[in-house]
Amino acid sequence: METKTESNRKSAGKVYLVGAGPGDLGLVTLRAKECIEQADVIVYDHLANSEMLGWARDDAEIIYAGKRAGDHALNQEEINKLIVEKSREGKNVVRLKGGDPFVFGRGAEEAKDIADAGSAFEIVPGITSAIAGPAYAGIPVTHRAENSHVTFFTGHEDPSKLESSIDYAALVRLGGTQVMLMGVERIEPITREMLAKGVRPDLPVALVRWATTGRQQTLLGTLENIARRVVEAEFESPAVAVFGDVVALRKDLSWYERRPLFGKRIVVTRTRKQAGALSKQLRALGADVIELPTIRIEPPTDLLEFGELVQDAHAYDWIVFTSPNGVDAFFKMFFKLYDDAREIGGAKIAAIGPATAQRVREFHLRVDLQPEESVAEAVVKEFQKQGGVENLRILLARAEKARDVLPKEFSRLGAIVDEAFAYRTVPETRDITGARSRFLDEGADLITFTSSSTVENFLALGLPWPKGMQVATIGPITSKTARDNGLKVDMEARRHDIDGLIDAIREYFGSGKTA
Ligand code: SAH
Repeated sequence: METKTESNRKSAGKVYLVGAGPGDLGLVTLRAKECIEQADVIVYDHLANSEMLGWARDDAEIIYAGKRAGDHALNQEEINKLIVEKSREGKNVVRLKGGDPFVFGRGAEEAKDIADAGSAFEIVPGITSAIAGPAYAGIPVTHRAENSHVTFFTGHEDPSKLESSIDYAALVRLGGTQVMLMGVERIEPITREMLAKGVRPDLPVALVRWATTGRQQTLLGTLENIARRVVEAEFESPAVAVFGDVVALRKDLSWYERRPLFGKRIVVTRTRKQAGALSKQLRALGADVIELPTIRIEPPTDLLEFGELVQDAHAYDWIVFTSPNGVDAFFKMFFKLYDDAREIGGAKIAAIGPATAQRVREFHLRVDLQPEESVAEAVVKEFQKQGGVENLRILLARAEKARDVLPKEFSRLGAIVDEAFAYRTVPETRDITGARSRFLDEGADLITFTSSSTVENFLALGLPWPKGMQVATIGPITSKTARDNGLKVDMEARRHDIDGLIDAIREYFGSGKTA
């Protein structure tokens, strides 16, 4: 993607037709991520994993062009027109398409329209579900002993065509592995046709649904019985179908579906930008993660006052941080005011919680005091151990409306405390990624809370509580807030950070104590 200055000079923007991969956020190219991060406009469809929109700039315009039940969907012509219009306005447009943009799914038609309109464009290939789907089900599309070629075909052709252009007789003569996209609804006539043309009835067939995501499901059968099994299992699209002896290799090569949290749907309630670390680890363990942001970080109400306090930071004996957000907001302001890290002077630094301490270290500053326990009370105790706080000047960088235990305690013990309101959390009312509607439709097995405000903000959304959804919290304060709000806490992290929370969840599900 061009740099800002380059794109400012030019009047027309560029269109990036980007492969979003099959679903797993890790199966996206570096180029795709770069394009998303820099885009002015993103047009995405149903199969592109919408979580990657979290990489977009906050001011990027995000347009959903897919078909989701009940939504007004843009038709193909409208999509193409929109893309061209936006690029003519000078914007860089990313058109995100599931899998690879040129493997079915009408990417070629979009590219042609863009080219015809004279817009500059770039194609970013992606990992297609035709290969990744089988791979995540433990099925290699080729094997030296089984086949020497692979065919991709679509089960859903252009509806305006009168006759099928797929020569099933030729497909059958070809043998090898056949991978079908878009064909679940038509599996019955297709398998019937293959049988009629003489394929052996016991040919192994696998259907992989929502492949590479936490909700992946695999259905196995033979050419003769797969259509019936699809009906019985109410198996629906999107799915890839694999026809061939390679399907049998799954017996030894299945890996994704064997992970500890596979099949568990887990809600992550942090902000869109912050959810990453927790979601990533849960996904790596096989969970189906729904990122349901309940809060968003915004600048504090009184930015000027915050700036003044940060400017005077060097005049304090201690600067106390209570969250990574506070650290970020503090240093963002600090480096706007100063261009030299030494301006922080001799102030010592305390950080509550390992994640907060880690963020401080990322700014190349030592943490002088880090209470073992991530609760405000423990901080005061820790200061006491180091000789107390009497007459010390303390700057507390924290969220607006945070619990005021800490400043009260410090003051009571004789410290001079100033509170620097570094940021505020506001309820996330948007549903950019469609996560909220998925949560409403499908429910979840578990919800994670990483702070008291995530509990309060989640409940403030007023969403119905799915039957049997359990609760995991990062620590006792969050648990207390949950209980005070009438929730039952099923698991609580012993170490009050993301790793601790993951451990608690693994232990819980590993022990079979499920509802
Ligand atoms: N360009 C896409 C395919 C678009 S056509 C690609 O390269 O993957 C849409 C079809 O792709 C769906 O009907 C389904 O057959 C398949 N597909 C896409 N993502 C899938 C996924 N995660 N799991 C299973 N099938 C998928």
